[in-house]
Amino acid sequence: MAHDPDQPPRRPATLVAQAGRRPEWTGGIVNPPVWRASTILYDTVADLRAAGGRDTHHRLFYGRRGTPTQWSLADALTELEPGAEGTFLYPSGVAAIAAALMSVLAPGDELLCVDSAYDPTRNLANTLLKRFGITTRFYDPTIGAGIAELIGERTRAIMMESPGSLTFEVQDVPAIVAAAKARGVVTLLDNTWATPLLFPAIRHGVDLTILAATKYIVGHSDVMMGSVTAGPGHFARLQETSFQLGQVISPDDAWLGSRGLRTLALRLRQHGESALRIAQWFAEQPGVARVLHPALPSCPGHDLFRRDFLGASGLFGVVLEGDEDRSRWEPARAALIDGLRHFGIGYSWGGFESLALPIDPARYRTATRREDAGPMIRLQIGLEDPDDLIADLDAGLSRYRESLS
Ligand SMILES: *Cc1c(COP(=O)(O)O)cnc(C)c1O
Repeated sequence: MAHDPDQPPRRPATLVAQAGRRPEWTGGIVNPPVWRASTILYDTVADLRAAGGRDTHHRLFYGRRGTPTQWSLADALTELEPGAEGTFLYPSGVAAIAAALMSVLAPGDELLCVDSAYDPTRNLANTLLKRFGITTRFYDPTIGAGIAELIGERTRAIMMESPGSLTFEVQDVPAIVAAAKARGVVTLLDNTWATPLLFPAIRHGVDLTILAATKYIVGHSDVMMGSVTAGPGHFARLQETSFQLGQVISPDDAWLGSRGLRTLALRLRQHGESALRIAQWFAEQPGVARVLHPALPSCPGHDLFRRDFLGASGLFGVVLEGDEDRSRWEPARAALIDGLRHFGIGYSWGGFESLALPIDPARYRTATRREDAGPMIRLQIGLEDPDDLIADLDAGLSRYRESLS
């Protein structure tokens, strides 16, 4: 159901219900069926040869180029980003980040990467990209228009992530995009926290917007997936690089991704509402030094969040009161988390269940320093009743204070 430009834009809940469901792919079935394929058969040698010479985008050619099941999900993600040219899907969020960066960078280039980037992004820059002759400079997430001073002759791309992993600084994406465009530099954004529903990145001028679809798109903690959606002029290179890297996701995973997508607007609304309520509750509790939630004034970039975002999702951080003596607070933090009844302890987020993690962001910084009062925890607020979660966290904070005293 491609959008008719003469119709008013569809609101998010309508869009996620309809996106990607082209009749030629669904055959009238509501959801695109699972088309599993490696070999595609041709009637004649001439047909086989003709297929190879054609643009294979949205044409059955060979399983690695996808089937309508993957195309439908990719197309849906493109529809969610007004102005986007196309989307490619990957078997994880990290694979998406790697392909996006490799599609724009070449030996001798410099990458500017935000200091609050997801750790595997940093690691990729510091190891594999370095090995291919690409250098990386990390920059302060609050740099804004000041990024212009860092752009040099060799700067080819700027990697952003907003809010930042673990520490939630909101970046001035429009200011960075403007500085980049003035110098012909490509911009990339890890938009996993907001998704296009809360931050339409292509409309804000970003060239390549990346999702760990593992998180909110899939939404049920049972599939790994990534996506890159390209703005005007950037899809062909992204697709070519991704084909060269042999990237493809299974039709079964794509089908689960499409199924998750249909409830994205509804889920995000509940994740956001519950998380904000719990963040506000935290801000008033004894023993809490600071709450890192973009919708609260205590979060760096809160004003930018209010200006640019259409809402908040369900992941935020809490800094507890502590002191220099890590050996004292480390067991207290563990007591808080270990005793929680409704929060799992594990990586990832964006699923229906709540999660709690101890985090230590200072060790991942090189361009900026973090001066936190004490230990930090990161919470993913799931779809459980927030009153149950608050009662659980309240008991957790009591354990923390007792363990410290
Ligand atoms: C989880 C995550 C990724 C990586 O996604 P995977 O699917 O786990 O590879 C990338 N960026 C952010 C911000 C994430 O939280």
